[in-house]
Amino acid sequence: MLDIVPTLCVGMPPQTLRVATVRGAECGNRNFSVSVMERLQPLDRLTHWHGNIRAIATDMDGTLTRRGEFSSALLADFERLDAAGIAVVVTTGRSAGWVSGLACYLPVAGLMAENGGIFYPGSRLKTLKSALSVEQISDRARDPNGWMLKDLGTLSRHRTTLSQVFYRLCQDFPHLQESSDNPFRQTDWTFDVRGLDDRQIDIIKSLCLGARCGFTYSNVQCHIQPPHQNKASGLDRLLEELAPDFDRDRLITVGDSPNDESLFDVTRFPRSVGVANLAHYRDRLDHLPIALTAAPEGEGFSELVNWLLD
Ligand SMILES: [Mg+2]
Repeated sequence: MLDIVPTLCVGMPPQTLRVATVRGAECGNRNFSVSVMERLQPLDRLTHWHGNIRAIATDMDGTLTRRGEFSSALLADFERLDAAGIAVVVTTGRSAGWVSGLACYLPVAGLMAENGGIFYPGSRLKTLKSALSVEQISDRARDPNGWMLKDLGTLSRHRTTLSQVFYRLCQDFPHLQESSDNPFRQTDWTFDVRGLDDRQIDIIKSLCLGARCGFTYSNVQCHIQPPHQNKASGLDRLLEELAPDFDRDRLITVGDSPNDESLFDVTRFPRSVGVANLAHYRDRLDHLPIALTAAPEGEGFSELVNWLLD
């Protein structure tokens, strides 16, 4: 059942109305209503979330960072969440190479790289109440390709296909620059978003879809990727493997960019938060988070942690 207050639709961007309609159609047999009013709420209106949250799946760049860097406040946030028994899974578009290193150093349950492509368990994995044994987790983590969340066949052949799509894009957009972490990737191929406007991004997306690839982008880079690879599908697969009985009402998903959009799909993740800088993309997203922090970037993540724990 769709629950849109008609007066809200007057003067509302058409994208917003379409979003609400699509969400209603996607509900299937799940019994819940959708309201434009229920999106982008201030955190303090959601007091019923308090005391119930056991895990946070959060984007990294623009969500945990402050002006491009980690801060001492972020490490303190992770430590406070760990002490409270709340598992943190970082879900980033960054490369397998970068993320496998971070997994060794950050006090979190794990990190998912390449927008849902690969998982790296962290030292606090136990906070997710994993259904897998220590031996099973070790076996998955020791796989030389990483803990793959999607079957892609031979990786070298897959990467060659992605590179061919990129060089095809360069014929129309010769200024495209491979991202600095592209050489360390397994499942996708990335180039910098800097210098691309919305119209160019839309054309690039169409070209990628025409080449039977997926496409997404963030505040830092564009991704040519396998079809249907996204953070939600990766998180779905991870929870199925690690903690199949995990109650999603006890999970908050967090992000700031279009590549986080799948985490805001209320049919899969009923509790989602955007940091304030997400507002920049609000008219380009089909799914908007339930809540929006007042502060941007890492300050917004700290705002969420303080609100949950104080
Ligand atoms: Mg981001």
